Amino acid sequence: MNENDRITLEQAIYEEMELTPEMIRSIRTLCGVCLCSFVESKAFKIAIVPSADRSMDTCTVCQTRRGHDYVVMNR
Ligand SMILES: [Zn+2]
Repeated sequence: MNENDRITLEQAIYEEMELTPEMIRSIRTLCGVCLCSFVESKAFKIAIVPSADRSMDTCTVCQTRRGHDYVVMNR
């Protein structure tokens, strides 16, 4: 899959989810551990962003483990 195909697919997914620009700005990569702490804090609304290739990136919080992309919004 080339870069353009990937972007087109991601845009299709975002439209399906009706992500607002605000939600897209709030996307972070979270590993399982950091995801749990966000969920347990109950201060955020969290939704997984379906990724086209199910790839995992480095967690933006701990920067050590790897995880998926989530929309993290303040309640
Ligand atoms: Zn983490």
